[in-house]
Amino acid sequence: MASHTDKLGFHSKTIHSGQVEEAAGSITTPIFQTSTFAFKDANHGADLFAQKTEGYIYTRMGNPTTKALEENVAVLENGCGALATSSGMAAVTTVYMTFLGQELHMVSTDCLYGPSRVVMERDFSRFGVEYSYVNTSNIEEVEQSFKPNTRLLFIETPANPTIVLTDIEACADIAHEHGALLAVDNTFMSPYLQRPLDLGADIVVHSMTKFINGHSDVVAGMIVCKDESVFKQIRAVLHYMGGTIDPHQAWLVQRGLKTLPLRMDRCQDNALKLAKFLEDHSKVNWVKYPGLRSHPQYELAKRQMDGPGALLSFGVKGGLDAGRTIMNTVSLATLAVSLGGIETLIQHPASMTHAAMSNEESEKAGITDDLVRLSVGCEDFKDLKEDLEQALSTL
Ligand SMILES: *Cc1c(COP(=O)(O)O)cnc(C)c1O
Repeated sequence: MASHTDKLGFHSKTIHSGQVEEAAGSITTPIFQTSTFAFKDANHGADLFAQKTEGYIYTRMGNPTTKALEENVAVLENGCGALATSSGMAAVTTVYMTFLGQELHMVSTDCLYGPSRVVMERDFSRFGVEYSYVNTSNIEEVEQSFKPNTRLLFIETPANPTIVLTDIEACADIAHEHGALLAVDNTFMSPYLQRPLDLGADIVVHSMTKFINGHSDVVAGMIVCKDESVFKQIRAVLHYMGGTIDPHQAWLVQRGLKTLPLRMDRCQDNALKLAKFLEDHSKVNWVKYPGLRSHPQYELAKRQMDGPGALLSFGVKGGLDAGRTIMNTVSLATLAVSLGGIETLIQHPASMTHAAMSNEESEKAGITDDLVRLSVGCEDFKDLKEDLEQALSTL
């Protein structure tokens, strides 16, 4: 996307791209809280519908506040355009809906975000869509899972809560050799730390509920595209299926986005220090964090990410019971799902989010009984460390 901020650095782009020009000179984006827009005359209305002129018709199909946020994220991801959605799941399902259909096949990461997998297996399958879930960190498995009818490779890296990485460049090559598109769920990294379109991906999706908004107070999503034809296909589906964002929600997200790099630097710094502290702790069996040399894909992390991020998982000695004890003894870290906010969240998949999974399923997905996941926030490192230290001391 050609923008007046092209030559600027990431922080400056975050702050200055995606602005609405209006008469009063407002520094922030005004909220265009309207469902519909007046045409100047009949010809103007006709031209807008025929897409012969730029402008707005109806908020489901575009709104100036929403557009400001879309431009902001498109610039940061180096995309040609972006489409804001009412949730991260609306972004995921709109991409599925655009490129899949009866007897068309998708290849995806086995430990994909739960609902992204559930909608495929439960709902899209009812319309004849086919799928394969594989360990996408193994490129041979990805290659072998392609079929003549594969249209979409949909990956998530790092994956949750196992913190396993997938090689984006290698996946882009495989997808393109087979005439398929590569979509990457970039929620965990945000464009500050990973830009999949620069590595060959065609589409990026975000749950902006997480790092982009960053304040645990809005649910929203985004789709970013590398080229115009893909963008137009997705836009046509989104504008009629209706998973569009609301202008007030868009305004809140853009407000949060302005401090993305500042928050990210801070929580990543805390995460690295906590990972090192946990790695040395006698009650901890293992730590999985891409910023540690002990991560099996440390080299890949350095190649495709600008930083290791704010999510880590670790294994406590004592398995299921120990995990449960930690949940009940932390006081600063909050017990909650979701991630990417300014506050530290902790969760124990075996007793919480993944409790319904069979042992065999969770083992295959790498979700062991002892696994505790942290989404590290912006608090003082000293306070976070003391909180975990006192919780671990009760084991
Ligand atoms: C939360 C999340 C989603 C879904 O986003 P919602 O905003 O909750 O709909 C998709 N992918 C990942 C990786 C997520 O963490």
